[in-house]
Amino acid sequence: MTDCYLCIHGHFYQPPRVDPFTGRIPREPDAAPYANWNERIAAECYTPLAEASYFGRISFNLGGTLARWLDENAHDTYARIVAAERGYLEANGVGNGLAQPVHHTILPLARRRDKICQIRWGIASFTHRFGHWPEGMWLPEMAVDFETLEVMAEEGIRFTILSDEQVQGDLDAGGGPYRVRLPNRKEMAIFVRDRHLSNALSFAMPNPADVDKWLQQQIEWRCLRDGLALITTDGETFGHHHRQGVKVLGRVLARRKAHGYRMTTLGLYMRQNPPRGALEVIENTAWSCAHRLDRWAVGCACTPGDSRWKGALRRALDNLASDLDGVYVQEARRLGADPWPLRDDYIAVVLGQVDGPAFVAGHGLGHLGDEQTRRLLALLEAQFYRQRMYASCTYFFDDLDRHEPRYAIANGVRALALTRYATGDDLAHGFRRDLQVATSQKTGQTAAEMFDGMLEKAEI
Ligand SMILES: [Zn+2]
Repeated sequence: MTDCYLCIHGHFYQPPRVDPFTGRIPREPDAAPYANWNERIAAECYTPLAEASYFGRISFNLGGTLARWLDENAHDTYARIVAAERGYLEANGVGNGLAQPVHHTILPLARRRDKICQIRWGIASFTHRFGHWPEGMWLPEMAVDFETLEVMAEEGIRFTILSDEQVQGDLDAGGGPYRVRLPNRKEMAIFVRDRHLSNALSFAMPNPADVDKWLQQQIEWRCLRDGLALITTDGETFGHHHRQGVKVLGRVLARRKAHGYRMTTLGLYMRQNPPRGALEVIENTAWSCAHRLDRWAVGCACTPGDSRWKGALRRALDNLASDLDGVYVQEARRLGADPWPLRDDYIAVVLGQVDGPAFVAGHGLGHLGDEQTRRLLALLEAQFYRQRMYASCTYFFDDLDRHEPRYAIANGVRALALTRYATGDDLAHGFRRDLQVATSQKTGQTAAEMFDGMLEKAEI
């Protein structure tokens, strides 16, 4: 028997569904008989996987918005997931969970200080939930550039996952890990997913009764030599995209001896097999768009029809972000704060680790009066919503007139309302002007009209 290892990595994530003004998820009729999609997918996927203890046997990352929803709405499932990861750490000296940048932002499209913020917030959220430092981090949509990898390395992340079409070099070590040298002279270890094997599970999943035949065809020839075969897929593949997925996963985990492979996870495998070889990363690529990053930047053939709204909406959000940052930096500096490190640390308030006034006082700003403290906290909260505008889901689908783009605009409205409350600066006019350029091909509605409908709700 060769030293053949199989790792299944599940990317567990749901787009944010809460109304930014009420904090609640509106009823979603197409998720019936459940009240919304999160409830339905939890019943089909997260809960059965957790009850079968599979989170302790695969590698996974759990998105921030989903983790929070599970914690509050399916707490038993959430607690089982966390306990499984902690149990894995105790048993193996290394965890099987990976962190995720907190708002599922396409990081190559973000400026450096926002990359730092998203990565720091993601690490802080992971540590808060799982109780230890994450060695690995999942890149949203596997979107990669060197600056993102550099920041991750500087923040102490040791490895990430890319798809085989995003790298160049000799892949003789199968799934890796491989060493990538970065422009800042640091290194990042890269695991490389086996695209064909991953797709064979994600898109041509067998019935439970046919798993042995599937393993024979898909795995056994890969196990003729040592190394790692890495399957990476949306976690919702198991039970939601495919009803039989939970059972199939159970069979793949159980039938390892018969087919000559062992199960492993990424952190553990890297302890036993340090990175070797050297790969080149192809910058500005992602696993879910073959047109560099056009899907999230300017629109591309990944979504049907006229997708020019994507570039127009991104410009509106970028201009608003720039305006929000200008007000925040000026006010923070006037009050004696260092704006970007302060924002990076603000995740502690979001996670409920500290209350706002104690956070401000803990950053050497205890001399500020109540009014100044309130103002600074409102601007920090505006920065939170400004970060949340950039969830990748905004641009993933074909049309502007959907929940996801509305959600991005709504977060912008929240951010500008908080800014007006804090300093009196009204950034609405510029944002609305830019939103006029983005039009839905289906309904003819402009993003500016969507914005108008939200303004009233945003009054604080
Ligand atoms: Zn594309």
